[in-house]
Amino acid sequence: MEKAVIFNIQRFSVHDGNGIRTNIFFKGCPLRCEWCSNPESQRKEMEFEFVEKDCMGCGECVKICPVGARISPKEIIREKCTKCMQCAKFCPKDALKTAGRTA
Ligand code: SF4
Ligand code: SF4
Repeated sequence: MEKAVIFNIQRFSVHDGNGIRTNIFFKGCPLRCEWCSNPESQRKEMEFEFVEKDCMGCGECVKICPVGARISPKEIIREKCTKCMQCAKFCPKDALKTAGRTA
């Protein structure tokens, strides 16, 4: 069964509409607005986000990869990656994160 990938859940939303709402944003926006402030929401699948300045170079993300796909905090071998997202989950500094999640 295919699962939708959720980009963000925004609670207590009071802007751009009536009432107090909970907004659920899915990844895979088909629009390509030039002014898009969340380009990481455009692709349907989960993606990595890496903030180099937060990385302390511990190498945990490389060590934890079960299939040897992650070769550095910035690089993966795409053909090997199973998108288990373990590498991002265990980053102690949140330098490596995922854009998108499934239930
Ligand atoms: S686990 Fe996080 S902090 Fe450590 S090397 Fe990887 S990205 Fe950098
Ligand atoms: S998502 Fe999983 S398989 Fe892909 S690089 Fe990270 S730990 Fe390795």
